[in-house]
Amino acid sequence: MTNFSSQILADIEYAADLFRQAERAVVLTGAGISTSSGIPDFRSEGTGLWAKDEPLEVGSLTTFRHDPEKFYKWFHPLAGQIYKAKPNSAHLALAQLEKAGRLKKIVTQNIDMLHQKAGSEKVIEMHGTLGTLSCLGCYQQYGCKDFLPPYLEHGTIPHCPACGAVLKPDVILFGEQLPHKAWLEAQQACRDCDLMLVAGSSLEVLPVAGLPMQAIDRGAHLIIINQTPTYLFVRADINILENVADILPQIKDQVMYGQTN
Ligand SMILES: [Zn+2]
Repeated sequence: MTNFSSQILADIEYAADLFRQAERAVVLTGAGISTSSGIPDFRSEGTGLWAKDEPLEVGSLTTFRHDPEKFYKWFHPLAGQIYKAKPNSAHLALAQLEKAGRLKKIVTQNIDMLHQKAGSEKVIEMHGTLGTLSCLGCYQQYGCKDFLPPYLEHGTIPHCPACGAVLKPDVILFGEQLPHKAWLEAQQACRDCDLMLVAGSSLEVLPVAGLPMQAIDRGAHLIIINQTPTYLFVRADINILENVADILPQIKDQVMYGQTN
């Protein structure tokens, strides 16, 4: 905790205060919470895989339907990084806050399952998950454990054991709609919350980026921890422009073990 400026230390304390006062805190997480687990922010322009491989075309539902091999070849390095990734201190802090009754829901833009690996249970996945795959032929859904290891090790493209059609990871590709149920749940959680924490999201991908606005329009407090400013910078009670993996454990410690005022 020694390296932070006095301003950031004050922000951490204030954030912990807001958490202690909150009855229905909700967190929205994005790629920035998983970079410390070795997963690149693949939607960031100029940095991730998207930039190298014309992602709008390759990572689209249309491409997948016409040429799943091309998709699976492109997706391979990212899938490998995700599959072997472990949750970091930020995921663990959120899981502890949830267990302590301080956090009602996690709405995540990530597909990496790291919140669940950290022990969180109330997770709404807005962009799907790599944890399951679905058959494009008969719609049967399968867990990833029988299919991802052979794909990652030998490039074996997953096929449906029942009908033989190709399996698609249950991640939302460009051109695909968000899962309806997840979207409704997330909207409900954000409209009902009295504290919204944005952790590691630049709030650039719609419509999820609009969720914090729904919260603050109904009177919720807003804390944003992200390395770059977001469009809600001026609306937030607190902006901490740091890595969430450094900040969230400090907030969690103060919420759970710090002074009660
Ligand atoms: Zn099938």
